[in-house]
Order: sequence, then structure tokens, then C-alpha cells
Amino acid sequence: MNEKSFESYLKDIEKYLKNSSIEVEKASMIEKLEEIYHYYLGRKGNITHILRSLSSIPEDKRPIIGKIANEASEQIGKIINEKRDYLKEKRIEEILEEKIDVTLPGRQLKLGKLHLLTKTINEITNIFIGMGYIVVEGPEVELDYYNFEALNIPPDHPARTLQDTLFITDRMPLRTHTSPVQVRYMEKHKLPIYLISPGRVYRRDNIDSTHSSMFTQIEGLAVDKDISMAHLKATLEVFAEKVFGEGTKIRLLPGYFPYTEPSAEVLVQCQECMGKGCSVCKRSGWIEILGSGMVHPHILENIGIDSEEFTGFAFGMGVERIAMLKYKINDMRLFFENDLRFLRQF
Ligand SMILES: [Zn+2]
Repeated sequence: MNEKSFESYLKDIEKYLKNSSIEVEKASMIEKLEEIYHYYLGRKGNITHILRSLSSIPEDKRPIIGKIANEASEQIGKIINEKRDYLKEKRIEEILEEKIDVTLPGRQLKLGKLHLLTKTINEITNIFIGMGYIVVEGPEVELDYYNFEALNIPPDHPARTLQDTLFITDRMPLRTHTSPVQVRYMEKHKLPIYLISPGRVYRRDNIDSTHSSMFTQIEGLAVDKDISMAHLKATLEVFAEKVFGEGTKIRLLPGYFPYTEPSAEVLVQCQECMGKGCSVCKRSGWIEILGSGMVHPHILENIGIDSEEFTGFAFGMGVERIAMLKYKINDMRLFFENDLRFLRQF
């Protein structure tokens, strides 16, 4: 080691002192301070390197370089520590300034709820479950046979025009009613049968306040020995009272459906005027809520049920219509528009 090396060591140390001081001054993160520390004072740091190289310096100069390098090391370590303390304190102050108010109430999670139609379906099916019925579901894409033929509606039967049908293929419509479930179930199960079948049905209807191309029906079927029209009426009376309230009266008017004989349209006391007559019930005091009748013997015979021994009744109702009457809703489209302002009310 010559004199020049000794001078250059001194220059280096001076340079490190100056640069480290500027770098520490600039550092705004503790992580950056650690980097500076490693660069000068770490195991392979520049100052550390000089201290380890003392043996290569002439003996008489060693104490001088050693002393200066040690002082530099202490100095750099000191400013790094001071800055670290400062940054830590500053961070704590920032956290305190965020002013977390622990007394504020927590954010409430928004709970969803059942759609009004689902609620109505549940309500109606529960009434029938209470009377011993079981719930059975069927396919929405149905075979022509089950949707029409098996229900006494052959291809040229005029009743087919009552139900504007949406077809998937020639022989496979979207079911126009939930009645096919009756046939499907009777084919595979032993009598007696008491079933209720809720589900979506499809018609080629123009959409307005009382029509939709998709709506919901609930079908009911009871087949047993000695079932009569009286059982049908009594069952529907229980249903009407449970849905619309104690004392609600119903009325059966002669109707026509290909799959029941005799058939009856069922009217319930207008819920708006309680039978006095108003604009909702067109002054009649009554509103039609469902179609019903005694299962046509042809249908039973087709499935292989002895129609002399067994008789049955069936009924079908529109869930939207029941919900509209019960909750005084004047437009069917509200059910399907998914406007939460409407749906949250129920
Ligand atoms: Zn009325």
C-alpha cells in the first residue's frame, strides 16, 4: 500500500459519509433506510470493506484509517437510526390521525328474501301439504302427448286453439299448463293419489298487465275411491279461506275443459269490495281464480285406471293471479321486471 492508496481511502470515506447523509435525508421509507445501511455498513458494505482491508495498509497508517472508518461507520449508523425513529413516529402519528371511530355502527349486510311468487307458491303448496297432498314437479319442455293428447286434447281438438303454444319441435312444446304432471304421475304410481304440482308454463301471449308468455301455475289432483264434486268444493273452500282469510266464500260456475267432466270455474269473493261489487270485480263481487272439475274418465282409462272404481278431481290456478288479488298488485309484469323497489315490499 502506498501513500496514494492511503489518500484514496480517506477520499472514499469522505465520499461515503457525504453521500450516505444525502441518501438518508431523502429516504421516506424505513425499507429504503435498510438498503442504505446494507450498502455502507452491511457485511459487504463499503465502510465494512475498508475496515476489513486494514491489513493491506502500511502499519503506521492503519490506526488513522481505522479510526476514521470507525467514526464514519458510527456516524452513518447514527443518522440511519435517527431517521428510522423519526419515520416510525411519523407513521404512528398518521395512524392516530386517521381517527377510527370505534363507536360507529358496523355496515349492515343486505339480506335477500324470497320472491313474492316463490312465497306465494310455498304458501299454497303448504296448505295442500297440510291436507295430505305431496308436491310433484314435471318437465317444462314437454312431449305433445302429455301436454295435449293424454289430456283428451287430440291434434285437431278445438281446445288447442285456446292455448297458443310455443314449440321446441313439432311434437315437443313448452308446456302450456302443469296438467301433464298429472298423467306422468298417474302412469307410474299406485292409487290413491293426492298431488300438487307448481311450476312455470308458457303461452304465446302478448305481454300486458294481465298476460305474460311465461307464468306460474299450480296443479292439483286427487284420485281415489268415491271422490265427488263435493270433495272438490270442500277442498277449494279450505284453500280459499287459508289464502284469503277466514270466511272467504267461493262459487263454482259451470265451465269447459277437455280434461275434466263436469268442469267448473271457481270464483272467489272480491277481496277489494268483499263481494259488494267494485271496479276490480267489474261490479260482480266475484273474481275467477282457477279452473277445476272431475277428471275425465277417458284420461283415467287411457292410463289403465278403472274409472268405475276410481274417480278424481283436478284444479289448476295461476300463481300470479292469486298473488295479484291477495297483495293488490295491478300489473303482472311487476313480477318479472326484477325492480327491487317492488320486490322489497313483500
Ligand atoms: Zn270487487
